Amino acid sequence: MSVPILDLGRAFADIRPEAEEAVKRIFDSQGFILGSEVKNFEKHAAAYLEIDENNAVSCASGTDSLLLALMALDVKPGDEIITTPFTFFATSGTIARLGAVPVFADVDPKTYNIDLNKALEKITPKTKIFLPVHLFGQMTPLEMIADELSSRNIKIIEDAAQAFGTYRTVKGKITRAGRFGAIGCYSFFPTKNLGGCGDGGMCVTNDHEIAERLSRLRVHGSGATYYHDEVGINSRLDAIQAAILDIKLKHLDEWNAQRRKIAENYKILFASNGLDEFITQPYELENNCHTYHQYVIRVHNNKRDDLMKFLDGLSISTRVYYPLPLHLQPCFKYLGYKAGDFPEAEKLSEEVLALPIFPGLKYSEQEELVNAVRKFFKI
Ligand SMILES: *Cc1c(COP(=O)(O)O)cnc(C)c1O
Repeated sequence: MSVPILDLGRAFADIRPEAEEAVKRIFDSQGFILGSEVKNFEKHAAAYLEIDENNAVSCASGTDSLLLALMALDVKPGDEIITTPFTFFATSGTIARLGAVPVFADVDPKTYNIDLNKALEKITPKTKIFLPVHLFGQMTPLEMIADELSSRNIKIIEDAAQAFGTYRTVKGKITRAGRFGAIGCYSFFPTKNLGGCGDGGMCVTNDHEIAERLSRLRVHGSGATYYHDEVGINSRLDAIQAAILDIKLKHLDEWNAQRRKIAENYKILFASNGLDEFITQPYELENNCHTYHQYVIRVHNNKRDDLMKFLDGLSISTRVYYPLPLHLQPCFKYLGYKAGDFPEAEKLSEEVLALPIFPGLKYSEQEELVNAVRKFFKI
């Protein structure tokens, strides 16, 4: 029996009739870009995140949500943005696109998120924004440095692309990923916890003026049609994505709960099979509700690639997120980093292995994977 890394079809089966109805409705209306379907989804996403409905501004992708957020906070060439080297490329790509400078700080080896103390050490008079990522569905505890950052007039943009629905309890209060900083950014790429049937993204904020600016920037900086206050980009959500995301949003908490259950199963299965001395399982920081966009283990003793190959031979799929930290990417050579600058991130890229985790993954498939790992380690 094969075990896929991801099978989106299993959860989609539950909503397929409703999604087909929605697509028919849009074909009837012939309204494809922004419009009432998009407004409706923005309203429901805002309600879920407990913000004013006008403060949720959708756009064409998670990448664009980061670009729009940086533009809306006036990021200019030469500005320094402190961020993590261990993330998907878009987090830094968008910074570089604006001529700003990604300034990396190493990560915490347990959570894989940026090390907040190391981030603070990177502050200079040019630092404009702190851009953390809630990697794999686990929040960075931003409350720990929020005061320090605001006293230096540094704003936070959260890359919550992998963390829609994730939350953290701060002083007894639930704070959702993306709701902590000046702007939170989400991706609705099909594989994300809340994913459409194509590209999509969203920015959220508490500040009405920032929301208005984001709304203009996504339509070429235009307030009134054909009058341009500033140069923006073309980045709009389409009606079909909005309608499908609106349907999926109703299932999100249930699907995230399934992911947490699958994570718990892995935790118990690996431990009870004596495998915890060969691998390190994900660590859930206190007060966090990790939503396991990915279940990423570390494989000890340089065995990661061999284990991956072994599993692949048994038709069990795994992935490596991410094989090369951003400070070592060829396109960022000009930033002047070298191997050894961020040992934790570099070690992670050699050890991490993402296992199948998605709504609809069967317990028997998890058992099959864990049994195969046991076979590999000959125990
Ligand atoms: C997916 C992702 C993005 C980009 O989102 P797209 O919708 O693919 O453009 C940005 N940052 C992180 C951490 C991501 O995982």
